[in-house]
Amino acid sequence: MGSSPHYLCRHTPGDRVSVEQERLLLALDFGGTKLTAGLAASGERYWRAHRVVASPPDSNAQSDREIMMELARDLLASPSGVSFVQTAHAVGVSFGGPVDAARGLVLLSHHVPGWENFPLRDWLQNRFGVPVAVDNDANAGALGEHRFGAGQGYDSLMYITVSTGVGGGWILNGQPWRGADGMAGEIGHTVADPDGPLCLCGKRGCVERLASGPYIAQRACQWLREQPDRGRILRALAGHDLQAVTARLVAQAVAQGDDLAWEALEIAAWGLGVGIGNAANLVNPQCFVLGGGVTKAGERFWGVVRRTARRMALPEVHFDVVPAALGDDAPLWGAISLAEDLINTC
Ligand SMILES: [Zn+2]
Repeated sequence: MGSSPHYLCRHTPGDRVSVEQERLLLALDFGGTKLTAGLAASGERYWRAHRVVASPPDSNAQSDREIMMELARDLLASPSGVSFVQTAHAVGVSFGGPVDAARGLVLLSHHVPGWENFPLRDWLQNRFGVPVAVDNDANAGALGEHRFGAGQGYDSLMYITVSTGVGGGWILNGQPWRGADGMAGEIGHTVADPDGPLCLCGKRGCVERLASGPYIAQRACQWLREQPDRGRILRALAGHDLQAVTARLVAQAVAQGDDLAWEALEIAAWGLGVGIGNAANLVNPQCFVLGGGVTKAGERFWGVVRRTARRMALPEVHFDVVPAALGDDAPLWGAISLAEDLINTC
């Protein structure tokens, strides 16, 4: 990457930066359906400013980048109530898709066209004139939860997000572990049931195929069609429109005692538990931090996840399974961590 801009530290290694000197960090999160930006000062754990916009339906990589630059300009210009130099010292980026973090390269997006092999780090460095680090959203989420959320105090953990897809990121020995190809943590495409339904990746019974939100909804919907006498509560919640069934409605129906909805959700919990138990046997982390919309499905869901994971793992393999603390902002706080590491290594 000979064309990569090189940045000199603003202070020499021997210099102590005065504690009064505020260092602002900009975090950007390119999600599949929304774009989020946050501004925080190094060492602080709240947003000085925060903006989120939905990605337009016909968006492409270029339009998403333009919207994100607007958000960033907006944040840096917004009055915070205290005086600060409105220039970020470093920028961290979470991207919803495969990323070569070492080269700051987006490999592609599964949701938005035009991202193939895009040098996002260099592109942003040229615009902001400060160091930039880019990682995928699962790794960023793991870092965010480790530094600021439910993963604090654990030296090794896996962060798993269960929503439209199922992704994961590792922290090992207190550091992100990205794998040789940057693909570590792809728990969504580990197989829980070799005889299960066909996954988009070509295998059968992947964790994602069993546990992601759209497949929970699809499964419930299919059973409602096949079993007209069942699922009364779920049908009512969906306004008797099968197209309106979502994973969130399935979870609501479970809370109200709908058996069909529970069977659809239980398969998701079981698949996720199998994936966690296998990962525990392989790597033996202290903790699994679970985030994403599907993990808000209630205690009954969590009970099956925990019991299945426990059953799959050897008795000598100990681990906690805990809910994420940062919600949808985990990748954004991870991006702040990436930016913080850039200025701290200076
Ligand atoms: Zn798969």
